Amino acid sequence: MQEVFNADEAGFCQFKRNSALVLNADFRPLSYYPLSLWNWQDAIRASISNRVNIIAEYDEVVRSPSVEIKIPSVVVLKQYIRPTSASAFTRFNLFLRDEFKCQYCGSKGDMTFDHIVPRSKGGRTTWENVVASCQKCNLRKGSKSIKNAGLSLRQKPIKPDPEYLRNQGRKFPPNYLHDSWLDYLYWDAELEA
Ligand SMILES: [Zn+2]
Repeated sequence: MQEVFNADEAGFCQFKRNSALVLNADFRPLSYYPLSLWNWQDAIRASISNRVNIIAEYDEVVRSPSVEIKIPSVVVLKQYIRPTSASAFTRFNLFLRDEFKCQYCGSKGDMTFDHIVPRSKGGRTTWENVVASCQKCNLRKGSKSIKNAGLSLRQKPIKPDPEYLRNQGRKFPPNYLHDSWLDYLYWDAELEA
């Protein structure tokens, strides 16, 4: 038997459980991290207004007095959204480039940023001069050069293009993945398991 609930009754718990994976017109997720998801209300709205095709559904339906609609679990945009050509230089994107790991010691957690060439020595705040760092390495480095602080970089910091960041995002799958999404997601973490 199908599980049925009214749109009005569906609270936050339903929202999470019945999210729709949103794919671009090329059938790739709009984003991996965070994973592009819409709540079911938005997914149904987009379908009714003809902006998406539904390609997979949940068993659950929503009912109005006149219609009954299966809740979409995967939708694909009809119009392709071109990715931006440059990655925004943000805290999040910088951490994502560095996989949320200290670029000196590789540890995770307690993260901050470090200027490779310190600001006091004219170092700029750019993709090439800022890396994710743990507090400990950040303190140890202070205003010294990498060499003088006895540290080394795990990789050369680059300015990532959006495709690179997108692939980095694939390394961080969310805890919950609905079965119907898996055909459209390629998780590195899963392949390594
Ligand atoms: Zn560190």
